Amino acid sequence: MRTGIGEYRSGKQFGLTEEQIEICAHASELFKEKLYPLQQKMDDEDWWPEEAFREIAGMGYLGTTIPPEYGGQGLDYLTAGLICETMAYWNPTFAFSWLNSDNLVIDNIYRNGTEEQRERFLPAMCRGEMIGALGMTEPGAGSDALGSMKTNAVKEGDSYIVNGSKIYITNGPIADVVLTYVRTSRDMGRSKGISALLVETDQPGFRVGRKLDKMGFRGSPTGELFYDDCHVPTANLVGEENQGHIIMHSGLDLERVMSAMLCIGPARRALDLAIDHANLREQFGRPIASFQMIQSKIAEMYIALETARTFVYRVLDVCSKAQEEEYGRGHIHMLASAALFQAAKAGTFIMDEAVQIHGGSGYMRDTEINRLYRTTKVMEIGAGSQEIRRIIVASGLLKGH
Ligand SMILES: Cc1cc2nc3c(=O)[nH]c(=O)nc-3n(C[C@H](O)[C@H](O)[C@H](O)COP(=O)(O)OP(=O)(O)OC[C@H]3O[C@@H](n4cnc5c(N)ncnc54)[C@H](O)[C@@H]3O)c2cc1C
Repeated sequence: MRTGIGEYRSGKQFGLTEEQIEICAHASELFKEKLYPLQQKMDDEDWWPEEAFREIAGMGYLGTTIPPEYGGQGLDYLTAGLICETMAYWNPTFAFSWLNSDNLVIDNIYRNGTEEQRERFLPAMCRGEMIGALGMTEPGAGSDALGSMKTNAVKEGDSYIVNGSKIYITNGPIADVVLTYVRTSRDMGRSKGISALLVETDQPGFRVGRKLDKMGFRGSPTGELFYDDCHVPTANLVGEENQGHIIMHSGLDLERVMSAMLCIGPARRALDLAIDHANLREQFGRPIASFQMIQSKIAEMYIALETARTFVYRVLDVCSKAQEEEYGRGHIHMLASAALFQAAKAGTFIMDEAVQIHGGSGYMRDTEINRLYRTTKVMEIGAGSQEIRRIIVASGLLKGH
């Protein structure tokens, strides 16, 4: 079985440092041992391995981008992204849930939360004792999440009273804290007047609805959330009231570029599996790898992968060096969307070709390549679909970013 480590030994071609290469090599060995064997059961039984999450946290793989005083590792976004890629190579589903907690919630609280919120949530989250989810999408508010948002919060004394619902929320059924976007004003225009609240899931009025049955990423629990007169302390407001759109846009940029690694890792794995299969499978008396049409597929898969990968590394490097106020607008907004667009496009292309190379065996549900194929499609939909990403890129270019 390939380990992927060789990929990182050659990481110098991307200008990775010795330290980054070493971090990835170490992570790859660990994730291969601890996470790879869980894949099949997670997919078959839609099972979330809670203990493994704690174990990985205990080994220092949560809070990758936040400082050690809050329990994190203090890594830059590129290095954290490399860890994500490595995890997604061995177990994309685990990486999906991990990223939602590590980046969408932990990193967000660190960047936007008060000192009291940082101290209250971050160390426990970095130990894996609390898991985070992000609640933005609603039944009637998908691509137009801000403009169509109905979930609202009214301030009463030292609480916000939240009413509404969210849908398709990764980690929703298992989360301890949901960074929830709510409407707090209707007087500021349809995409403004939004606030970000840390809703602790043991608060009265919060309820998890259905756990949703997905075609891929099975094992990463996705659910509906309901807020019925849910009392959230005003101390749980993240950033300023009615300024949640800024937090959402900056968070989405980082989510997009980190999520691009959820495309790159599995695509690398699919290419490795396809090469192995092509070398082993014989038809017409010789390995199918000897046929030029199969070679052509493998070459195109590699080129698509490396093109996307190089671009994503570059954008992660830009994010690593950016100032907080640069996220969610301008050049980074455009780059993050472009990076995820390209990575998702490469990912679905590579999965399709990898299944083709596997022939009938690739169509069987219990094969690894089939699982990767089913999993990858959502990367063209979530965190702003391919269409929305194109709109952002075009709009950025037309504005001269
Ligand atoms: C597995 C999974 C996990 C998810 N996890 C989370 C999560 O943790 N938190 C969260 O908040 N959300 C989450 N989502 C929701 C995800 O972000 C939304 O599905 C996504 O934003 C698209 O919204 P929608 O599904 O309502 O599609 P719609 O907005 O209804 O879009 C349907 C189609 O119309 C296209 N479209 C829409 N507007 C335009 C336009 N202006 N121009 C051209 N085409 C357009 C879209 O691109 C798409 O192809 C998750 C979704 C899935 C499937």
